[in-house]
Amino acid sequence: MVDPTDKTRASPSADVFAGTLTRRSALKYAIAGLAGLACTGSCGWLLLRRSEAGIFAETSGIFKGDAPKDELWEQWNKRGWVREARHYVKIGPAVMCKLCPNHCRLSPGDRSRCRNKINRGGTLQTLAYANPCAFHVDPVEKKPLFHFHPGTRTFSLATAGCVLRCLNCQNWDISQKKPEETKDPSGQEYRLRPDAPQPASLDDIARLSMFPEDVAAMAQALKCPSISYTYSEPVAYYEYAYDTCKLARDNKLKNILVTSGYIEEVALRDIAQYVDAAHVDLKGFDEQIYQQLNSGSLQPVLNTLKTLKSVGVWFEIINLIVPTYTDKEDVIQRMCGWLTENIGADVPLHFSRFSPAHKLTQLPPTPVEKLLKARSIAQAAGLRYVYIGNVRGVEGAETTFCPNCKKAVVVRDMFAVTAINIENSRCAFCKTLIAGVWSDGNMPAAAGPA
Ligand code: SF4
Repeated sequence: MVDPTDKTRASPSADVFAGTLTRRSALKYAIAGLAGLACTGSCGWLLLRRSEAGIFAETSGIFKGDAPKDELWEQWNKRGWVREARHYVKIGPAVMCKLCPNHCRLSPGDRSRCRNKINRGGTLQTLAYANPCAFHVDPVEKKPLFHFHPGTRTFSLATAGCVLRCLNCQNWDISQKKPEETKDPSGQEYRLRPDAPQPASLDDIARLSMFPEDVAAMAQALKCPSISYTYSEPVAYYEYAYDTCKLARDNKLKNILVTSGYIEEVALRDIAQYVDAAHVDLKGFDEQIYQQLNSGSLQPVLNTLKTLKSVGVWFEIINLIVPTYTDKEDVIQRMCGWLTENIGADVPLHFSRFSPAHKLTQLPPTPVEKLLKARSIAQAAGLRYVYIGNVRGVEGAETTFCPNCKKAVVVRDMFAVTAINIENSRCAFCKTLIAGVWSDGNMPAAAGPA
């Protein structure tokens, strides 16, 4: 059973991501989402899953010869859903992506490990551009970001694809899919903008595009002061996220990356110039477990944390405690010690409760005692802002306490902020500085055009 309160999931509807989405229910969700967009702007939700097909033979993580053939490529190109990659090198007719540590080397006709990039005629092209398969208006607390404009809404979007293969992925239904499994480029072109007619069918949703200027316009129309690149993995749709971040910045919107942090430093610095906040998933602190559980490695993520700190992007960290994988107390202790020493005591750390999902349905949810123990380890290591997520009934689990007077300065109930006692970024009671990017109790409205 999936926990519907789980912040790591893309949708309030567990059914959608539990893989039980039928064509009829998909249409229901889409129409409900569109009603939200048009009427209240509070709950727009779209997801399309076009096909259950897509099991391909993988060789070294890449999909040999799996790039779209000419006809599909032309359709994709005509839609504007293709861009040349920003970070790669050519090696004769082959290409090597330099965006994430996977460093996919693709011969002509190959598809990348993240499923979104192909070698087309000796150039690296992304297929994940302007074709989101999911979008929604979320509270910023759902990312979760607790120290960044609390109480505001954020326009959230994702395409298919991911650079990792986490056994416990909550959003595998889009992260482990190709763009062609979530979108359909046939039929009439259709751009979703605030003044566009609402989609009336699942096919409309399949063919819709949202270019960067459309995303910014939608965020503004829905009174969202920020855009979140989330749900799957923004590194996998980097070019789309990059162009949208840049345009959003021009329009005085904030940009939030919700990421595994599995990215090369050059590419991170490139996009970070337009990023206001990040939520980084530090999935563990043991190299072997990182490989087993996530098919990645730890060190690049630690590098990402250091880079984000050095460039001044506000970020918070989540650590999912997965029973038998990431619940060892000595490892949690090492992780917290490293964070205190290398990132600083002010970085918020969110311990999150695991819910059985994807390939780890045989495991139980994390016992609450494990989460409480992790919190006390982190606090003992000197971290000032430690939270417990995806669990109800734990007192103060999601409250921000002043590290000096210990009074509650931000009180939350699930995704709702019920009190903010911060003035000029300081505790309203004792005037101690509270780390974060605050709106000082006044909810910022969506920014207008530049
Ligand atoms: S971003 Fe995708 S194509 Fe590039 S190296 Fe990573 S997995 Fe490979």
